[in-house]
Amino acid sequence: MAVSAGSESLIVNAMSVDVEDYFQVSAFERHIARQDWEHLPCRVEANVERILTLFERHKVKATFFMLGWVAERYPAMVRGIVAAGHELASHGYEHIRVVQQTPEAFRADVIHTRQLLEDIGGCVIQGYRAASYSIGRDNLWALDVLAETGHRYSSSIYPIRHDLYGMPEAPRFPFNPDEAFKRGNGLLEIPVTTLKLGGRTWPCGGGGYFRLFPYALSRWALQRVNQDDGQAAVFYFHPWEIDPEQPRQQGIGLKTRVRHYLNLNRMESRLDRLLGDFRWGRMDQVFLGQSGALA
Ligand SMILES: [Zn+2]
Repeated sequence: MAVSAGSESLIVNAMSVDVEDYFQVSAFERHIARQDWEHLPCRVEANVERILTLFERHKVKATFFMLGWVAERYPAMVRGIVAAGHELASHGYEHIRVVQQTPEAFRADVIHTRQLLEDIGGCVIQGYRAASYSIGRDNLWALDVLAETGHRYSSSIYPIRHDLYGMPEAPRFPFNPDEAFKRGNGLLEIPVTTLKLGGRTWPCGGGGYFRLFPYALSRWALQRVNQDDGQAAVFYFHPWEIDPEQPRQQGIGLKTRVRHYLNLNRMESRLDRLLGDFRWGRMDQVFLGQSGALA
């Protein structure tokens, strides 16, 4: 749980990176076939390198939710993340949203990815984040599968209203789905952070929103969560968000184009400020009070 020794500013928040390349995002699903991934120029390794340098500069340890597909191709990058003291966690094998998977396919995916990451990283994998926060009211069975396959926490339910994902009635802060939904067998669900304002729940834990809003607004929202809610925040971003030079995808709609490309050139300097303005740690250390032992 959050460290609070008398002052809210001492709360340690959780920093996380969803490691996927620019062509693997759900918004491009209908435009780029998975079999074409092999032929696209990868930029993830260089971008992760820049993120590691940024984290090192601020002495921040974070959690990297890694796609199995990426880990297989860049094992040295994965080992570099672990060697630098960060937590390695699972983002599934190839970014298939859980809403598109049967329970059997999901089980096979999370078992395979967890084993793959443990073999490459040499560490225990405790955490899982679903592609595009795709666990919600229609597939809560996925929480049972995650617990049964050795995961200790999930960060896959986004308690907001959104056109692509979200479960607005879910709790805003880490909760035991056993109590809330009779699901999950002791798994801890750790939602990305939201702010309650004017009777509505607003996303403030990263993604496109962090690029859309002025930095001062994001900072204010996270301060409210730390000070008013007294809770640790969970922030996430992607390696491609600090890469304005990435190849531009053609033929996508306006909304997708804005969401993906908006303010990419401002992201790294904003992250730099964010890392300096708050205290940050790994998901497992902030919420489980521990780090994974060596396998
Ligand atoms: Zn993702």
